Amino acid sequence: MPNKTKQAILSHINKIISEFKFSNRKLKHPKECPCYLENKPCHNVGGELNCFLCYCPEYDNSKEEGGCKINSKKGKWHVHENGKIWDCSDCDHPHKEETVRKHLKELFGID
Ligand code: SF4
Ligand code: SF4
Repeated sequence: MPNKTKQAILSHINKIISEFKFSNRKLKHPKECPCYLENKPCHNVGGELNCFLCYCPEYDNSKEEGGCKINSKKGKWHVHENGKIWDCSDCDHPHKEETVRKHLKELFGID
């Protein structure tokens, strides 16, 4: 890929990441998520939460009980009377800026 093209894509990735910062989304799209109205991000990521991957791409939806494709230690099985289901509620992985950057770079074929 020509360097100029790569730089243009990286610049767009930065714009996407900036656009999807929690602080930005809550101002521009306050009705999109209850967390915006409450001004309380859904997870504590130790910095600014990013909303681009609200639904985690690592979730394994090929099985009825779900699962995690990367075996995150922050997820857990929730056992209920009819079986079990994968519970992501304590996992901040998809909301970290570095995770969003990694997925966007993969999407655009940049290493
Ligand atoms: S990642 Fe999704 S649920 Fe979490 S604050 Fe952003 S939009 Fe809301
Ligand atoms: S445990 Fe974390 S990384 Fe795994 S699917 Fe759930 S949110 Fe994604």
